[in-house]
Amino acid sequence: MTDKINHIGIAVKNLENSIPFYRDQLGMEFEGSEDVAEQSVRVAFLKVGESRIELLEPTSPDSPVAKFLERSGEGIHHLAYEVADIEVALAELKEKGVRLIDEQPRGGAHGSLIAFLHPKATGGVLTEICQSRH
Ligand code: ZN
Repeated sequence: MTDKINHIGIAVKNLENSIPFYRDQLGMEFEGSEDVAEQSVRVAFLKVGESRIELLEPTSPDSPVAKFLERSGEGIHHLAYEVADIEVALAELKEKGVRLIDEQPRGGAHGSLIAFLHPKATGGVLTEICQSRH
């Protein structure tokens, strides 16, 4: 179903404060930031090999990422695996009895389609599958 980690999502309180560590100290290529209104977050991507670090800053107190920060503080929020066709992947997961948060794909950053699996089905690791636009 997947042979690639598309990105690792890290919850942060403030993008501007967090980007310099990855960009300047670890030397990763900064690819830009954008608002993902659907999830009330602003995200920044930093390239590491074929994968990325996705920094997530909540833009509203109702954002799931805001709740995560309240509960756990800053840190790793989710892992995202790349799939070629997200509809096919979701159908396959459902058929295999994997509990899903998103039965239907929703819009992610860079025009991607994403869906979250339920942490109860993944040993507590919030897991995203992601179909890139390109
Ligand atoms: Zn993500």
